[in-house]
Amino acid sequence: MANEDKNQKLTAWVEKHRGLFELFLDAFCVVNSDLNVIEFNEAFMELTGESYRKVIKIGSFAKLVDTELGIENCPSAQIVRSGNALRLDELNGSTKAYPTAKLILGGVPIMSDEGEVIGALMTIRNVSAESELQKKYDERKKESIIDGLTQLYNKSYSEAMLQRLVKTAIRSGNWISIMMCDIDHFKKVNDTYGHQAGDHILSTVAQTLKGVSRDTDLVGRFGGEEFMCILTGTDPEGAKIFAERFRARVESSVMSFDSKKIPVTVSLGTCTFKGEWKDGVDAPQLVKELVSRADTALYFAKANGRNRAIAYEAIPKAADGKTVEKPPKDGKDSKDTKKKAA
Ligand code: GH3
Ligand code: MG
Ligand code: MG
Repeated sequence: MANEDKNQKLTAWVEKHRGLFELFLDAFCVVNSDLNVIEFNEAFMELTGESYRKVIKIGSFAKLVDTELGIENCPSAQIVRSGNALRLDELNGSTKAYPTAKLILGGVPIMSDEGEVIGALMTIRNVSAESELQKKYDERKKESIIDGLTQLYNKSYSEAMLQRLVKTAIRSGNWISIMMCDIDHFKKVNDTYGHQAGDHILSTVAQTLKGVSRDTDLVGRFGGEEFMCILTGTDPEGAKIFAERFRARVESSVMSFDSKKIPVTVSLGTCTFKGEWKDGVDAPQLVKELVSRADTALYFAKANGRNRAIAYEAIPKAADGKTVEKPPKDGKDSKDTKKKAA
């Protein structure tokens, strides 16, 4: 069959299948037996970086979508020549819009009623554009859950995870402990050494906390100079050991900024809960209660001299079982003394 006849038949085939083409999300095109593109969608123009008129003008599929296979062996030529379908994964390709692209390229031959190859229907997916998009998406996602200064989880993500982990603990009947941390006299660090030094100390303490915690623990920045650590599967004894280890690590670390040594200590409050499934248990309410208990313990640590870890469970209780009245905030009642873990 002469190429002219083939082209007429191909045009009729295209008309007949126009509805089908609208379904394609990937770039697609129809190539005739001269290997020129005669039909294509918006995605093909985006992939090639050419206008409608330019695609028609250039014509040659191999020029519009240059691949490592070269012009002679370009995928559309292979299909038209062999009459077989073709699928090629991760082919190095180049278009005006994407000079270095990884392409997934596939195509099927288009046959006349007489069984002669009159063209090829090609689809092209630019996977490097997809991975770029995925990378951007991942970066955005990371930014929304990670605190930029300390690289710890931010407050809203930590709170959401705490809800989830408490629910898991309730179902499984496992222990869960929470540790609240607040850097002692941090305002003084800023006032004495400057805000930049303060920032440096914040991220150093954050890394120290990350360093002592396990992969299964969740460490988050809960506020300015406050951190929270969720210790899954950790009982009261484990929480006490963990808090004391972290406290001692901070106290003994030599932190410096601009060659100036900056003494840093932290106060810690822990509380522990053993999951127990009861009908109607209100997880959000329980989470609030646990955070409040850890806060109360932290408050006691501050008021009792700072640089110490106190467990909520160890705070003296009144006869009705409630925590005794909170001590005054700024520890006026005590001078800062050295470590003591309750
Ligand atoms: P206390 O021992 O009672 O906790 O005393 P403190 O000075 O640590 O507590 P206070 O709440 O009075 O001060 C907290 C300080 O933390 C004040 C604030 O400027 C500082 N801060 C909060 N966020 C940041 C930050 O991102 N960078 C720096 N450099 N400082 C911060
Ligand atoms: Mg604070
Ligand atoms: Mg503080």
